[in-house]
Amino acid sequence: MKIAFIGLGNMGAPMAANLAAAGHDVIGFDQADATVDGVTMTQSAAEAASDAEAVITMLPNGQILRAVADEVIPAMHAGAVLIDCSTVDVDNARAVARQAADAGLLSVDAPVSGGIGGAAAGTLTFMAGGSDAAFAKAEPLFDIMGQKAVHCGQAGAGQAAKICNNMILGVTMIATCEAFALADKLGLDRQKMFDVVSTSSGYSWTMNAYCPAPGVGPQSPADNNYQPGFAAELMLKDLRLSQQAADSADADTPMGQVATTLYEQFVEHEDGLGRDFSAMLPRFEKRGRH
Ligand code: NAD
Repeated sequence: MKIAFIGLGNMGAPMAANLAAAGHDVIGFDQADATVDGVTMTQSAAEAASDAEAVITMLPNGQILRAVADEVIPAMHAGAVLIDCSTVDVDNARAVARQAADAGLLSVDAPVSGGIGGAAAGTLTFMAGGSDAAFAKAEPLFDIMGQKAVHCGQAGAGQAAKICNNMILGVTMIATCEAFALADKLGLDRQKMFDVVSTSSGYSWTMNAYCPAPGVGPQSPADNNYQPGFAAELMLKDLRLSQQAADSADADTPMGQVATTLYEQFVEHEDGLGRDFSAMLPRFEKRGRH
């Protein structure tokens, strides 16, 4: 398949390389200089898109996605599919889907989980929103870049699934970290805390698979001085998207709101920038109630 790949950063570059390695004809564009194994670079997004059966975007945010969509949609030919894998807000994802439909194109919003490691290994999970026809056309490409693709519903459903999942993740990480910090102050050994909680009703992915306490549970960024992993600022981005969506849909998300405020403080006013999102534990450790 002729594929255009726009946005070849930390995630996009390895995803595009995997498509090329699988034998697809991949044309790339990034506004910054980028070289990716097996990918032919072009001078503009429109040029990359003009001959493609699938155009994949992996961009920083919804505003940039809109600008790129304005460029590529008029250049694409009827029946081609626009697959946006960026994490963006639901409203912009739906607006791009409408624009694509008006131009006679198929489109899917397909944000991912699995991070840079998953992108390199081709083990991402895709959460997709769009018509059955659009999903069917994109699915073989998801199979190369990832290990699982869930068709969540119509346009925007992929982004909705992603931000709901990550809102749970942010809230749960905070709950796990504050509980460890409380256990410390109560004199409870961290290993004992893990042994109990990981097999009791307080268990969660953040406790069992990504334990924020160094030396406890499976290997995680906590064991590597909180090098990301999943950086706190990316968690903040996703939490903000969840709150933007909650505002727009009139949903009451008080825990998501508190998690957003805490990660905002951590990233913007404390030492959270560039650290893993589980570094909330040393943050709580240093603090008292009064
Ligand atoms: P990144 O900043 O490394 O890559 C984004 C790329 O887009 C950059 O190379 C940039 O030059 C390019 N770009 C920006 N504006 C452009 C334009 N107008 N035209 C062409 N290229 C343009 O970011 P990333 O880590 O690769 O993340 C990409 C998306 O994936 C984000 O939406 C992010 O939230 C999401 N995501 C990231 C991770 C992760 O662990 N990094 C995990 C899941 C989802």
